[in-house]
Amino acid sequence: MPLPTTADEQSATQQIRDLIRGALPADSGLTPLPGFKMDLSANPGFRKVFFAARCECGTSALLSIEVAREKTIAEVEAALPSLVDRLVKQQQAFASMSCEMHTRMRLGPSPSRA
Ligand SMILES: [Zn+2]
Repeated sequence: MPLPTTADEQSATQQIRDLIRGALPADSGLTPLPGFKMDLSANPGFRKVFFAARCECGTSALLSIEVAREKTIAEVEAALPSLVDRLVKQQQAFASMSCEMHTRMRLGPSPSRA
């Protein structure tokens, strides 16, 4: 099987992200993040989509969902409720932390944005 091109990968990942975004509750407070450069070598078996959760204290958290690369878009659609559930649970975990903890997260080591 030929390796998918980066363009194919980006469009598949974007489709998955759009599906998840469309299935999220309107008040989820989650924002899809389009701007990640893909690192195909990091986890070649999975496609990763990123969402940001934000707290009113100004802290934001990066949430991600991994979908097995061999899954078709139809299979992703069928699994959508559980994918959304995973994302909402991550968001709830972030929302249930105190803002003191949020602030500590912000002060902690963060990846460089080079
Ligand atoms: Zn907070």
